[in-house]
Amino acid sequence: MGKYQGAVCRHCRREGVKLFLKGEKCFTKCTLDRRAMPPGMHTQVRRRKVSDYGIQLRAKQRARRIYFLLEGQFRLYFDRAAKMAGVTGLNLLRLLETRLDNVVYRVGFAASRRDARQIVSHCHITVNGKVVNIPSYAVRVGDIIAISQSSREIDRIKNALDAGEQRPVVPWLSLDKDNMTAKVTAQPGRDDMDATIQEQLIVEFYSR
Ligand code: SF4
Repeated sequence: MGKYQGAVCRHCRREGVKLFLKGEKCFTKCTLDRRAMPPGMHTQVRRRKVSDYGIQLRAKQRARRIYFLLEGQFRLYFDRAAKMAGVTGLNLLRLLETRLDNVVYRVGFAASRRDARQIVSHCHITVNGKVVNIPSYAVRVGDIIAISQSSREIDRIKNALDAGEQRPVVPWLSLDKDNMTAKVTAQPGRDDMDATIQEQLIVEFYSR
């Protein structure tokens, strides 16, 4: 699968909210604080009624960008979620939350999901003692995620862990910061996920 290589702040400008795609910069020098208008050459804030389709599209795009996925990848997750038992919207969010790159970000091994993806791809992460370099790897309850022994002195990872102390770890993960390990203790609940995501609108978008 490909990956998005463009400027990421434009995603936040398009959605009109901070998506926290750049780690610490998002808290100190956020582009959205200076340029809140949508991206584009002759952008003007237009007041017009947004259709149901437009609302659903924005909800889908926002979630897709929060998890930093391309359309094809996001659609595959939706298709999988729709085939699973239970509520499709919650299934979708659970599939996204349990991606290895998201877990690496959630426990504070990386400053952003984008960073987390690179850290996983560069073989700095182990799952149950084995190196896993697949960002989409789905973690399961009981899995132990750790920084590999040879990567424990990397400044980028140590800095992220220090900065991450301000960010509480979600209840379904436990972190042992000193040993740079984390454990998946439960399935993520809806309350542990991004409250701004409107999964019902995403389901409606793909069910048209
Ligand atoms: Fe979004 Fe972070 Fe850029 Fe701000 S700095 S616009 S939150 S990616």
